[in-house]
Amino acid sequence: MRRISILGATGSIGQSTIDLIARAPDAYRVVALTGARNVAQLARDAIRLRAEIAVTADDASLPDLRAALAGTGIAAAAGQAALIEAAARPADWVMSAIVGAAGLAPGLAALQTGATLALANKESMVCAGPLMLATAAQHNARLLPVDSEHSAVFQALRGEDIATVERVIITASGGAFRDWPLERLATATVREASSHPNWDMGQRITIDSASMFNKALELIETREFFGFAPSQIEVLVHPESLIHAMVGFRDGALMAHIGPHDMRHAIGHALHWPHRTDLPVARLDLAAIGALTFRAPDHARWPALRLAAWVMDLRGLAGAAFNAAKERSLDHFIAGQIAFPDMARLVADVLDRMVNDASLLSAPITLDNVAAIDHLTRIMVDEAKATLA
Ligand code: NAD
Ligand code: MG
Repeated sequence: MRRISILGATGSIGQSTIDLIARAPDAYRVVALTGARNVAQLARDAIRLRAEIAVTADDASLPDLRAALAGTGIAAAAGQAALIEAAARPADWVMSAIVGAAGLAPGLAALQTGATLALANKESMVCAGPLMLATAAQHNARLLPVDSEHSAVFQALRGEDIATVERVIITASGGAFRDWPLERLATATVREASSHPNWDMGQRITIDSASMFNKALELIETREFFGFAPSQIEVLVHPESLIHAMVGFRDGALMAHIGPHDMRHAIGHALHWPHRTDLPVARLDLAAIGALTFRAPDHARWPALRLAAWVMDLRGLAGAAFNAAKERSLDHFIAGQIAFPDMARLVADVLDRMVNDASLLSAPITLDNVAAIDHLTRIMVDEAKATLA
């Protein structure tokens, strides 16, 4: 029986992971499930999957979690230290599906046990890619990509010599505002930004799709995960979102990965890797779909893409600063305090101020330094917000 833990079990990726695990209960022993405020869901899943422990990131939710698990023999805990302790429990396969930079420390704790880490939490690669890779190497742990584009690249690279790769193309749906007139973006509401044309995801990543901050994170993730040079990585707008990524080789061949809009494909690929096995995902009827279309990305509409190119060149702690600036700006947009285009303005402004102080971004990539730059960046975003016209 494989021992499995799911960090961020109550979220969109976590629930899709549970769907796959629950279909074969005899194959898995669930060690830890973690969530935040949604403790009713967390407790229900912990009971259904007979987990050893359920952990909420939210201290105030512990009494509810304890009450929901009373008499089941399942341990309950709360807080950051408990999350890390749960992630460090011996397991064979751990899903990293917490949203945001909060996923970094638990993911590292899982890698330190030598577990295979299925990485949906792209932010940990963006904030601390070199630390993630070094920790995995040091503990003989394997990192498997779950983001659909990165799973697609990973699959297209199977059996290939990575030195023969010329370029990597990750696709973007274009999100909610793909076809909006540019001048209308200033009036975009949170609700409008929270609806995705093709995927059903958590609210934050859905808004990040409309702004392409999600694609910006994925560009950086591609660089960090696979080690390609920034000049080798491209974004292509593909409204149907059926091709997730393409890998171009020296001989001109372009290997495209085509799959349904269902994260259970990428999750299942990481769960069963290196084998392929049946997954409950729809089979595409390409004749019915008829056509796949592509557009060059419009940098005026999606300034986040240029910011990503900048961050890929800067490296060091620039990824952590970029992610924190993005997260904080997104908080302000969701709270109704800034307009949609202000998110990219704030991120650009704060990065600009940081590169002027060279020592800030060139400190070594450690958990402490990532936390420090994250904290500082959020303060700088708030300061910059106060000066927005
Ligand atoms: P979500 O918001 O649906 O779920 C997030 C999970 O993290 C929940 O379990 C929540 O309780 C937990 N959480 C939130 N804040 C936390 C904190 N501070 N500390 C600990 N736990 C916390 O998000 P999601 O859409 O499932 O995305 C999860 C990750 O996967 C993100 O990094 C996202 O970018 C990535 N991802 C998601 C999709 C998708 O289709 N949803 C696709 C590719 C990558
Ligand atoms: Mg993706």
